[in-house]
Amino acid sequence: MSIYGDYLKSVIRTVRDWPEPGINFRDITPVLQNSAAFRKLIDSFVHRYQEMEIDAVAAIDARGFIIGAPVAYELNCSFVPIRKKGKLPFQTISETYRLEYGEATVELHADAFREGDRIVVMDDLIATGGSMLAATNLIERSGGRVIETAAIIDLPEIGGSDRIRREGHSVFAVCE
Ligand code: AMP
Repeated sequence: MSIYGDYLKSVIRTVRDWPEPGINFRDITPVLQNSAAFRKLIDSFVHRYQEMEIDAVAAIDARGFIIGAPVAYELNCSFVPIRKKGKLPFQTISETYRLEYGEATVELHADAFREGDRIVVMDDLIATGGSMLAATNLIERSGGRVIETAAIIDLPEIGGSDRIRREGHSVFAVCE
């Protein structure tokens, strides 16, 4: 958790029963609309990673991009998008994972990393951990080293962060 965790949690909006009944959607747009909150959010990640010699921030389509790009800029490292199927134009590698209903595929450009690159993977939220684990698999298959998985929000009751830790990865979340 970040020192700004409680504050940022108070700014994140919960939209009940969206996109379907029973889901409490954690909406980060109030943080993005508030310049002080957005700066505290980005700083939370930058402070954590600035001494860790990170080579690249890899971020998950689409809300991961909103935070991953400014963090990469501040860390002076590269930014790598992990995208939904069919969006990346060059040669890709892909991972398919199970969703509650059906499955999803994410892709990475085959030349995104050099062997041994130190990577932080970012997304807005960890629920089941499926998206994050698909991303870590892609990174490891392409020769990168996952230093940590990072999100704004962890929903620990769903168990995704524990699942990611059981797979051997460190997890950082700004708030729960
Ligand atoms: P998962 O792969 O189950 O860990 O789900 C994480 C992904 O789904 C993230 O990219 C989130 O943007 C999205 N997501 C899942 N549950 C929620 C939620 N309750 N509120 C907002 N986004 C969610």
